[in-house]
Amino acid sequence: MNNKLTRRFQVAEPKETQEYKIQIYPDEYEKYIDTSKESYIEEPLFFIVNLTRLKKGYFNAEASFEGKLFTYCSRCRDKASVDLNQVFKRAYKYSEYEQEETEDLIFYNTVYIDLFSFFLDEISLVIPSYNLCKVDCKGVCVTCGENLNKNSCIHSKNRV
Ligand SMILES: [Zn+2]
Ligand SMILES: [Zn+2]
Repeated sequence: MNNKLTRRFQVAEPKETQEYKIQIYPDEYEKYIDTSKESYIEEPLFFIVNLTRLKKGYFNAEASFEGKLFTYCSRCRDKASVDLNQVFKRAYKYSEYEQEETEDLIFYNTVYIDLFSFFLDEISLVIPSYNLCKVDCKGVCVTCGENLNKNSCIHSKNRV
C-alpha cells in the first residue's frame, strides 16, 4: 500500500460532528485499491464519512459512497456497474493498549483516525464476485466468442 495515499486520509479527532470526503482518482484506484483489476472507476470515487464525537476518544462513523464503480460482466465481460447504495457504520474508540477489534468497533491510539482503512474494508466488500451488465445478459457464444447482446452468430441461430 502506498504510504502517501494512506496518510492523506488520516484525520485528527473532530470536536463534534464532521464530514470527511475521501477522494480516489481512477489511476490511484487501479494502482493501490483493486490491484487485481477486477473493478475500476472512470471518474473520481468519493467515500463520505461523518464522524460524530460521542465523548472524548469515542466516535461514531457513518459512511457512504458517491460515484460509480464498475466490474466486468460475468457472462459477456462488458461493463457492469456495482450497487453502491449502502450506509456503513462503525465506532472508533481510543485505547492505549491493543484490544481485539470487531468490524464495528475499531481501536486507535494516536490522535489520528485512519479513514482510509475504513474505505478499504468497505470497498472490498461491495465488489461482487458475480456481476451482470444487465439481468438478461445473453453472454458470448461459446464457439466464436461473439457478444450475443450486440450480434447474433451462426452458432446461436442454430441453437434456437
Ligand atoms: Zn453481460
Ligand atoms: Zn458463435
